[in-house]
Amino acid sequence: MPEVVFSVDQSKSMADQAVPGHNRWHPDIPPAASVTPGSEFRVECREWTDAQLGNNDSANDVRDVNLSVCHMLSGPVEIQGAEPGDLLVVDILDLGPCQPPQESGDAPGQGWGYTGVFAKVNGGGFLTDHFPDAYKAIWDFHGHDATSRHIPGVRYTGITHPGLFGTAPSADLLAEWNRREQALIDKDPERVPPLALPPLEEGVLAGTLDGAERDRVGREGARTVPARENGGNHDIKNFTRGSRVYYPVHVSGAKLSGGDLHYSQGDGEITFCGAIEMGGYIDFGVDLIKDGMNKYGITTNPMLIPGRIEPRYSEFLTFIGVSVDETTGENYYLDASIAYRRACLNAIEYLRKFGYSGEQAYLLLGSAPIEGRISGVVDIPNACCSLYLPTAVFDFDVRPRQEGPESASRGEPARTS
Ligand code: ZN
Repeated sequence: MPEVVFSVDQSKSMADQAVPGHNRWHPDIPPAASVTPGSEFRVECREWTDAQLGNNDSANDVRDVNLSVCHMLSGPVEIQGAEPGDLLVVDILDLGPCQPPQESGDAPGQGWGYTGVFAKVNGGGFLTDHFPDAYKAIWDFHGHDATSRHIPGVRYTGITHPGLFGTAPSADLLAEWNRREQALIDKDPERVPPLALPPLEEGVLAGTLDGAERDRVGREGARTVPARENGGNHDIKNFTRGSRVYYPVHVSGAKLSGGDLHYSQGDGEITFCGAIEMGGYIDFGVDLIKDGMNKYGITTNPMLIPGRIEPRYSEFLTFIGVSVDETTGENYYLDASIAYRRACLNAIEYLRKFGYSGEQAYLLLGSAPIEGRISGVVDIPNACCSLYLPTAVFDFDVRPRQEGPESASRGEPARTS
C-alpha cells in the first residue's frame, strides 16, 4: 500500500480531521501534503456531502442536505517543482470504498453507497421538472457488484472512478471564473434551480486556514460543482483505475485536490447525485511534463487516457432522443441537452412498463454503467442523442417480446415524509 499522505477518519467530519480538507477552489489554501514527481501515494476521501446522508429508508436527508459544505475535498497535495505552464501527469493506480473492503459504518463508502434525486429547490437535476422531489436509493456493495433494496431486480458491476479531482486555479483564473459565472447568474438571478453558484462564505472549509483568511477564501473561492479549466467535477465515469490524466498547472506546486468518489455512474450522472456516492481511498502516481501546456496545446482543460479496467457489458437496449421539447413540442436547433433528456425519458417510460416507478428508473439510469452518446449534431434541426442501457444488469429479460413486458411489483425508492 502506498504511503497515505491525506488520511480520513470516517467517524469524523472533514473539519475535524487531523489535517482538514477544503470545499472551495482557491490558490491560497495551503498544501496538506507535499510529494515529489515520480512518487506514488494514497489519498483518503470523505463522501462529497461530508456524510450527511444515511443508510436508511427516508429521503429527508437528501431533501434537507446542506450544499454549502460541498464538495468535501482531500488535499491540496503539492507536487514539488511544478510550475504554471507544466502538465501534471496523474495516474489513477487504484481506488475503492473505505478499507478494509467490508468495513461497515454510518458513512457512505463503509460497505454501502447511495444515489440521490435532489429536490428542485435544493440542487435539482437533469430531469428536475419531471421529478421535483427528493428520492434516494441505498446500494449495498458485494465486492465489485452493487444491489439496492430500493431497486430490486437489478445487480451490476460498478465502474469505479473519482467524480472530482483538479489543480488549484491561479488568482487571475479564479477571477475570470467568478466574472463569467456571475454574468450568467445575472441573466436570471431568481431562477430555481440557480444558473450557477457564486462564492459563499457560509460553510467554507479552507484546510488549515481559519478566521479572516478562511472567510476570505469563502468570499472569493469558486464553488466545486462545475468542471472548469483546472479539471474539477468532471463526473466522467471512464476515469477508472489505470487512467492517466494530464492536468494544466496554474500555480506553483500544482496543488492537486479531489474527492467525490463514485462506486458507479452512468454517462451524464443525470440525477445530479446520480452516481453511487461513497467515501474511500484513491492511489495516485504523479509526474510532470515541464512546459507541457505549451508543448501539447493542453491549456483550457485536462486530457486523459482512460484506464482499461471497467465492467464488460456488451449488449444494450439503446434509447434515442431528438431536440424537441417534450412539453411544448417546440423544436430546438441542434440542442444535445434536450435530445439526451428525451432519450432518458424514453428509457424511463420503457422501464415503467416492467413495474418500476419513474423515480426508480431515474435513479438506475444515473448510477448504472449507462453509455450516453452524442450521435448526431449536424442533421438540422434535430440533434440526436442515444442512451445505452446494459440488458445484463436486470435479473429478468428486459428486451421486448411478443407477450409484453414482465411486469411485477418492484418495491419503491426512499421517499420524503
Ligand atoms: Zn459525486
